[in-house]
Amino acid sequence: MAEENELRYDPAAIEPKWLEQWAADPALYAAEPASCGKPKYYVLEMLPYPSGQLHMGHVRNYSIGDALARHMWMRGYNVLHPMGWDAFGLPAENAALKHNTPPREWTLSNIAAMKRQMQRLGLGYDWATEVTTCLPEYYRWNQWFFLRMYEKGLVYRKKSKVNWCPECATVLANEQVVNGCCWRHETTLVDQRDLEQWFFRITAYAQELLDGLDKLDGWPEKVRTMQRNWIGRSEGTDVDFFLEEQGTGNREQGSEKTRIRVFTTRVDTIFGATSVQLAPQHALVAAFAAADPELKAQVGELLDQQKKAREAGDLGAIEKHGVPTGRFAINPYNGQRVPIWVANYILADYGTGAIMSVPAHDERDFEFATKYGLEIRRVIASADPAAEEPALPFCSHDGVLVNSGEYDGLSCADAQKKLQEIAARDAFGEAKVIFRLKDWGVSRQRYWGTPIPMIHCEKDGLVPVPDDQLPVVLPPQIEITQQGGSPLGRVTDFVNVTCPECGGPARRETDTMDTFVDSSWYFYRYTDAKNSNAPYEPAKAQYWFPIDQYIGGVEHAILHLIYSRFWTKVMRDLGLIVNDEPARRLFTQGMVIKDGAKMSKSKGNVVSPDDMIAKYGADATRMYALFAAPPDRDLDWQEDGVAGVSRFLGRVWRLVTKYAPVAKTASESPSKTQSGVSLKLLRKLHQTIAKITLDFEGRWHFNTCVAAIMELVNDLQAADAQLAAGEVPAPAVRELLRSLVLLLAPFAPYLSAELWEELGEKSSVLRAPWPVSDAELAKDDELEIPVQINGKLVTVVRVAVDAAPKAIEAAALAEEKVKARTAGKNVVKVIVVPKKLVNLVVK
Ligand SMILES: [Zn+2]
Ligand SMILES: [Zn+2]
Repeated sequence: MAEENELRYDPAAIEPKWLEQWAADPALYAAEPASCGKPKYYVLEMLPYPSGQLHMGHVRNYSIGDALARHMWMRGYNVLHPMGWDAFGLPAENAALKHNTPPREWTLSNIAAMKRQMQRLGLGYDWATEVTTCLPEYYRWNQWFFLRMYEKGLVYRKKSKVNWCPECATVLANEQVVNGCCWRHETTLVDQRDLEQWFFRITAYAQELLDGLDKLDGWPEKVRTMQRNWIGRSEGTDVDFFLEEQGTGNREQGSEKTRIRVFTTRVDTIFGATSVQLAPQHALVAAFAAADPELKAQVGELLDQQKKAREAGDLGAIEKHGVPTGRFAINPYNGQRVPIWVANYILADYGTGAIMSVPAHDERDFEFATKYGLEIRRVIASADPAAEEPALPFCSHDGVLVNSGEYDGLSCADAQKKLQEIAARDAFGEAKVIFRLKDWGVSRQRYWGTPIPMIHCEKDGLVPVPDDQLPVVLPPQIEITQQGGSPLGRVTDFVNVTCPECGGPARRETDTMDTFVDSSWYFYRYTDAKNSNAPYEPAKAQYWFPIDQYIGGVEHAILHLIYSRFWTKVMRDLGLIVNDEPARRLFTQGMVIKDGAKMSKSKGNVVSPDDMIAKYGADATRMYALFAAPPDRDLDWQEDGVAGVSRFLGRVWRLVTKYAPVAKTASESPSKTQSGVSLKLLRKLHQTIAKITLDFEGRWHFNTCVAAIMELVNDLQAADAQLAAGEVPAPAVRELLRSLVLLLAPFAPYLSAELWEELGEKSSVLRAPWPVSDAELAKDDELEIPVQINGKLVTVVRVAVDAAPKAIEAAALAEEKVKARTAGKNVVKVIVVPKKLVNLVVK
């Protein structure tokens, strides 16, 4: 029995042994200072929220990053591979409410649990650089940045809408609004309230954020497209229509006229405007509705529809409704009178909250006008006078103006320019670029976040907290009720403060910052995590930045990745760094699903990493996460697959343990002249090295890398008799086994460490040089050439790589399938393209 046990791969014995050794060696995964002289490589996985449990999505994300980090260490790079915790946020407050555990305690114990899981997985993080965003040593720098941005005019306050539960008497986060009601009061409708809120002026960088995307060619195109759409740049024209005075029919354009400013990207179509459409929130709508109770009720309905669509998260797909106001606007170019409508699809915060509707030349306007019977007037015709009139709506820019008075015959582009000039000259408009991107609202009426470092003084107004009073520390152990307004507002010791300007009594800001602030710059802190005088030393950040490879979920394609790009540009303009962008390359891994659905507690399809590790070991779990699908695709978790990988690792273990004694008798590389089975095996080895090395350089088909290692192991096992008979010389055995272990090291760190030791190596496998493929050896001596008859593929023929055309022809003619099809026929001609093709012309 004892003997049998010894022959069994036992991760439960191997893995804890190495775990202990690695834990005792903090230098193993530590980044070195710039002076080490090696090229640097910064590989980073997005930091998790400390929920208390890793899920399989984490395991996959970290397995990708860890494989890359290990590979780069073996390639001789100075690698920074850190990990941290995005540790502020609402769940800690919810947990406090539910379990009566203080948020800090809850969060820190979750961090400890997840850190243990990460270590158990064998992830090679430099824990000396760990960053925890909820600790004052970190968030003081959020406050410091806030103040620097305030000084630069990048922070401001304005009234903005928040979700308000009248029952709780407090602000709700979007995720606390369920079907329009409070999450705790299921029948209480949530209101929108205006509150003074803090904003970061990200729009000041809108153009640069957009332009920078063109240079990020190491980012997925999908992410760049999402960011471009989010930033949403439109070139167009602001134009003032004039409100017709009611009852008078007066169309004079006096200076006292009320202006309705619209934004349009197609001012060339303005002669086709047959209505003006206002957002329900537009100031004029309120004025019209005040005098018209029926209109007021109708506008209320439009607002409700808009709110529901916003909550459903699909404002773009709202079913379009509108109501006429009974009022009219005057087109400034031709004095024409058009009705004013209010519509639910016009957004108050896009452009000016008002548009001109040109049904003949806009899909959306066409749909609306058709529904409500509004006039549709063509003003753009095909540029080719001989062509048929294009069907409406005709939205092309490639046309000429008609029915547009003196502008008839102008091209769309020329007309836009001309009409913009007229608007500017007559002071009723101007050329304009607008962005969909809005300033970043960072105020949260929450406890578990970074306190905003501002003071309200009756005498001095807004007073920034002086730098030497940072950090503004969150009071510990406060009572969390999530009722009755901001939690910090009830902590009098926190709120009451002496004004730094006048020394009088003042009031501290009680809002905390959006947690996206924490994750906007955390990766800079990793380069100098213990610095208590600055967020980081610029020289250190400059050495490590930009990040060479950033890895995370595509769900962060917009907010996190736009905010952190913004933050980088702000820090650059503060003189703290020189890079324009945080990450040179970005990789977005696919999701881990089970039975066709995302893993979730409610579906009961969650697979726990701990269970997998207990059953199959960390190596098999990680390696399966890389093997089961290309890293950018979704992975459908199959436990059978994990068991299969575990069996494969067992085969590797048995193979290497069996022949390690032979390998250890040699100390040199195999000779250049190999033949027979050892040539075959070494060729396969060097082909495998070449493939995996190439994949690590950017293709990242780790699934096929693992498959290639499996093939190599199959070949070795198939040669077991020859290996056992000593037909493969010891130096070749040594190279085969050593290289196999090195190739496996990024994917299965525990087993590699164990087998490396088994091969008699004393140093860490992580510091062993990555094997180099010998191109000569990797080259196949035979290749397959397709054989065609009259241009149709019939078979392939195996020939020597350097075979002469005559020999290839002979081989092709000797093929059974070729013989069968040429029997009794006349081979008129044979065309041989060496290494590529044989074509027989047969009659
Ligand atoms: Zn409530
Ligand atoms: Zn004061």
